[in-house]
Amino acid sequence: MSALLPGATLGVLGGGQLGRMFVHAAQRMGYFTAVLDPDPDSPAGRVSHHHIPTDYTDVDGLARLAGLADAITTEFENVPAPALVHLSVARPVSPAAEAVAIAQDRIREKAHFVGCGVACAPHAVIETADQLAAVSGDLLPGILKTARLGYDGKGQQRVGTRAELAAAWEATGDVPCVLEKLLPLDFECSVIIARGGDGQIVHYPPQRNLHRDGVLAVTEVHAHSMPEAIARQAVAATQSIAQGLDYVGVLCVEFFVLADGELVVNEMAPRPHNSGHWTMDACDMSQFEQQVRTLAGLPLNMPRQHSPAIMLNLLGDLWFLDDGTEQAPRWADVLALPGIHLHLYGKAEARRGRKMGHLTITGADIGEVRSTADFAAALLGLPIPLSE
Ligand code: ATP
Ligand code: MG
Repeated sequence: MSALLPGATLGVLGGGQLGRMFVHAAQRMGYFTAVLDPDPDSPAGRVSHHHIPTDYTDVDGLARLAGLADAITTEFENVPAPALVHLSVARPVSPAAEAVAIAQDRIREKAHFVGCGVACAPHAVIETADQLAAVSGDLLPGILKTARLGYDGKGQQRVGTRAELAAAWEATGDVPCVLEKLLPLDFECSVIIARGGDGQIVHYPPQRNLHRDGVLAVTEVHAHSMPEAIARQAVAATQSIAQGLDYVGVLCVEFFVLADGELVVNEMAPRPHNSGHWTMDACDMSQFEQQVRTLAGLPLNMPRQHSPAIMLNLLGDLWFLDDGTEQAPRWADVLALPGIHLHLYGKAEARRGRKMGHLTITGADIGEVRSTADFAAALLGLPIPLSE
């Protein structure tokens, strides 16, 4: 395929915040955009040139998207893979339906990691009562994860005993699951790469992530956010995972670093990722511009981080006082701090646990960034210190 130059129309399945930031990046470069999302008021739909408010499986909606867009990508991995297959008959689609289908299914995803020689947590597949009965006691205590449709810690249950495991599996409705051994984590990190149709790969420096209640809370990226050997190993593992899929697009791979220093892969997302939002403000090219470039078949450039960064996720909880009354966070005070970059996703309603936006803090050195981040966290009512 020859490159799609500015002036062409780029399409995206899904209208959430990731789609919105993709649309912003594409429009900045002179592309037109088309979003398909059933929500008439979706964050990306509201800022796109075209918005098709149909279901992902609606063939008329998909035909309209293919009619408008010269190439199509996705912004969330739970988009039905058949929709991507359907679109790919008419238009270039990246990432490919097969890569998305693997990322959608923890069982296939783990098999892919193992096939690429990347270590993952000891685990067992539970699809039948016999497999449940055969689970090795070594995997307990563990975390039972549904094979499909989990995100932000949803679809996960911690289990300590066989009885708890059996009850937890029953609570899922006996759907296919993976039981993972609960590992002693030192910290978590992730790597974002972009891979072009010609196989060229560029990557960002690995970021260190802190989760609260199964949801990403803080991302930090600076010269000392993790040992260099771990960072190198994580980048190499992510590259093999992408190559093994013949992947085209932006890919994020999440890792655990264990107490003994071992690196273990957790999961992948076939799209830009929440842990990569800092790239918009602290790098010369964001993960969303990489997504535009891979989709349009443009050359990729190795991104350069020009500032240390801390990213704070802004969940809907920040909009509620202790007594439950709703009140906008203290934006004016937060924005008075130096090196603050506020991103809000244009969601009409704040709900507890809902991702409403994020804040990236940049500065001359990590000490300065950390102290500004602590001030911002205090103003917003987030826990301090930000990391353990
Ligand atoms: P998301 O898609 O939002 O990243 P998810 O719902 O797919 O989340 P995971 O990434 O599998 O869930 O797990 C969420 C968090 O739970 C992890 O980031 C980690 O903090 C913790 N966790 C998951 N698996 C394990 C494990 N085997 N041992 C220890 N902690 C774990
Ligand atoms: Mg995760």
